[in-house]
Amino acid sequence: MLDERPAVGAAALPDGSAGTRPIHTIVIIGAGQAGGWAAQTLRSEGFTGRLVLVGEEMHPPHERPPLSKAVLSGAALPATTWLMKPDAFSALGVEWRPGTQVQRIDRTARQVLLSDGTAQPYDKLILCTGGRARQLDAPGADRVQLHTLRTIEDAQALAPTLAPGRSVVVVGGGWIGLEVAATARQQGADVVVVETQSRLCERTVPAEISDYLLALHSAQGTRVLLGTGVRGFARAEDGRSEVLLADGSVLACDTIVLGIGLVPNDELAREAGLACDGGVRVDAQCRTSDPDILAAGDVAVAPNPWAGRSLRLESWQNAQEQGMAAARSALGQAVDYQPLPWFWSDQYGMNLQIYGMPTPAHRVVQRGDAASGSFVLFYLAGDVVQAAIGPNAARVLRFARRLIEQRKPVDTERLADPATPMSKL
Ligand code: ADP
Repeated sequence: MLDERPAVGAAALPDGSAGTRPIHTIVIIGAGQAGGWAAQTLRSEGFTGRLVLVGEEMHPPHERPPLSKAVLSGAALPATTWLMKPDAFSALGVEWRPGTQVQRIDRTARQVLLSDGTAQPYDKLILCTGGRARQLDAPGADRVQLHTLRTIEDAQALAPTLAPGRSVVVVGGGWIGLEVAATARQQGADVVVVETQSRLCERTVPAEISDYLLALHSAQGTRVLLGTGVRGFARAEDGRSEVLLADGSVLACDTIVLGIGLVPNDELAREAGLACDGGVRVDAQCRTSDPDILAAGDVAVAPNPWAGRSLRLESWQNAQEQGMAAARSALGQAVDYQPLPWFWSDQYGMNLQIYGMPTPAHRVVQRGDAASGSFVLFYLAGDVVQAAIGPNAARVLRFARRLIEQRKPVDTERLADPATPMSKL
């Protein structure tokens, strides 16, 4: 049991100023990765007050990356994704409310109203509500089963349909779409990927990497239809599903998966009058427009100096590190969360990593031969590396990260030469 010693930190006074009101209770909404890390960090930073973790899902805080890979293929059980072993989780002394939704945030009374009919007061509130898979509201969508992949239940529902001889259409050639496509192929299914844009992962990677991903998936026998829209769905007479493409053609299949992006769960924040802009707006201290409410993870729109703008980072790194930062900030610690974005994806045993935010304005320097399967593209402004991406090049990319963070000019000829050790740059 946790004692009721005075908690660390202080909450803002009702007039919004920083005051000395003690923090007795912290409520975290969302028991995903960001929420789980926020809870752990509050305890490790010495918070001994009441800690309430409200989660819509029935699972304890867990990581999502394996859901489209090892959990989907059956190589790993869902419990392997849990952030903490059950005894470590109970040792935190968190009042976990699984299967519970927050229905409203009452900022005046400083409490949240829960779906079980109770009201839960807070001194600090941390929003880690994440996002949900975007749905496609097209004609016939109600006549077929449209899978998405976000939750453990999603992976469990999709997994049995990925088998030899089964055909799968994946709508969306972004990260979720491609990871699911790779797992489906590895399970022996026939796979078609339908992407509206003219290249894969257009939102997040430069064209060179889109081309690389296209070659990777094509070589594995996946048909990738680029620049192709979906006009609707239908159920064939034989019971199979049909994806109706904008050009009039029809893809008959057993399974349809939508991987068309994430919708941030910011409704609670918006209804409570917090500043939102495609997610909940926070500052570098993870504070929303209400100083007693913080936000972290997929739902938070934060200033990012590496991108030169505010944005949501949908990544494992951000869920963890911003969750930790929000917890420390809630306790009144000086926090300046300005992460160098880091993202990875695993497809067919290929590990792609990205540091920073490449833009078309950057000059590209390549190190290593694409045909070797391991290379890195550096994105520079002048002679300063701003971002780096590469498949199967974790070691080089670790050094690239240092180059980006140091913001020092490099000799680009040596950078491009695999014979020059990265440590010498
Ligand atoms: P996710 O994390 O869900 O993979 P991304 O933004 O990385 O999200 O990728 C979503 C992909 O889906 C994008 O490449 C986008 O162009 C594509 N997309 C969005 N809507 C459609 C659609 N209706 N049909 C096909 N592709 C779509």
